[in-house]
Amino acid sequence: MVSYEEALQLVLENCSQMPPRRVKLEDTLGLVLSEDIFSPENIPSFDNSAMDGFAIRAEDVTGASPENPIPLKVINDLKAGSFPQRELRKGEAMRIMTGAPLPPGADAVLRKEYTAFKEGLVLAQKPVKKGDDIRLKGEDIKLGDQVLKKGTQIQEGEVGILASLGIEKVPVYPPPLVAIVTTGDELVGLSEKLTPGKIRDANTFTLLFQVKKTGARARTFPRIPDNKDEIRKALEEAKKCDVIITTGGVSLGEYDFVKEVLEEMGGTLHFWKVKQRPGHPLAFWILEGKPVFGIPGNPAASIICFEEYVRPALRKMMGFGKIFRPQATARMGVDYSKESKGRLQFLRVKLERKETLWAYPSGAQGSAILTSMAAADGIGIIPEDVTFLKKGEEIQVHLIHLPEDH
Ligand code: AMP
Ligand code: MG
Repeated sequence: MVSYEEALQLVLENCSQMPPRRVKLEDTLGLVLSEDIFSPENIPSFDNSAMDGFAIRAEDVTGASPENPIPLKVINDLKAGSFPQRELRKGEAMRIMTGAPLPPGADAVLRKEYTAFKEGLVLAQKPVKKGDDIRLKGEDIKLGDQVLKKGTQIQEGEVGILASLGIEKVPVYPPPLVAIVTTGDELVGLSEKLTPGKIRDANTFTLLFQVKKTGARARTFPRIPDNKDEIRKALEEAKKCDVIITTGGVSLGEYDFVKEVLEEMGGTLHFWKVKQRPGHPLAFWILEGKPVFGIPGNPAASIICFEEYVRPALRKMMGFGKIFRPQATARMGVDYSKESKGRLQFLRVKLERKETLWAYPSGAQGSAILTSMAAADGIGIIPEDVTFLKKGEEIQVHLIHLPEDH
């Protein structure tokens, strides 16, 4: 039997980053860069206008005002996407749109709102300084700059940069494919009849959502009977994936075969049973180099074991530097007496902010109770040696739902 800290360390020690791969830009949402990205280009790649107006020479409009407008000859229209045909000369203006390249000879843009028209001439009503309303070549990113660091997660800003640089294939840690093997003779599917003794399979779905939320890919093997051959068959197939999660069948029951089968298949057991509640029978193996999590079948225990062990492991495999949920210190809103002594307890809590952050148990804490899990904002950690928390005492909480979820 190991402690929570020991178990977590064993898991993380035995999970390593996925081998990096080049992935098509549009498929990189949420993935982590496996290399620094250096810019192959300047952005912008040419001097251009930041405004709709007129490309001019700043010295031509010195002293301009509404009372003293300075006429300039309009010689050309510059649209975004076109390129000026000739140089701008003294006393001339070229109509220019935002993003259009600045013609040679021009050194500023006079905004449209500072102009008037008379007899084919544009009248400048305001002076400008050299460089006004011009976006300079390389102003955002210079050729050769390190634009993105290894370890950065690709979101909209990053994909925008990569697209602007014309990078079609991006070096990333690919998302692991996770097999979800749900075992139990008692389980029936959604539309099946609940005959006496049967229950509906919840964990296939809870684990599927958790894997997806983590950003990994999932393959489900629902409702494998408590039968060694069937379990072995499912695991032989599941081991083609990068990670295996089994649920059910790791307790002490007569029909809990998952451990036995994994042993026969040559898996190395790193731990079984953790001094924690819920999720005491959690087991962890390495099978042919792949992590296998034996998660207990009780639905709330299954969700918590995923949160506390599998999610950090998957995030490590995906190359994240930050692999844990944010943690907050809250104060207990009520007295709470721990359910089992000598084990760490994961307490499902609702959080409320009133000057400080307060934590309240979100309902009954049994391993099978999903309603308190659904109502929880976080998982409070009550250490092994603590038996009682007085109202107002501090508790560390792993935040599983961020504030914007509410
Ligand atoms: P086990 O870990 O197989 O001993 O199962 C512990 C408890 O969780 C039992 O009451 C099972 O019926 C229940 N259970 C196991 N698997 C599931 C599942 N996929 N969905 C919902 N409950 C489950
Ligand atoms: Mg079972």
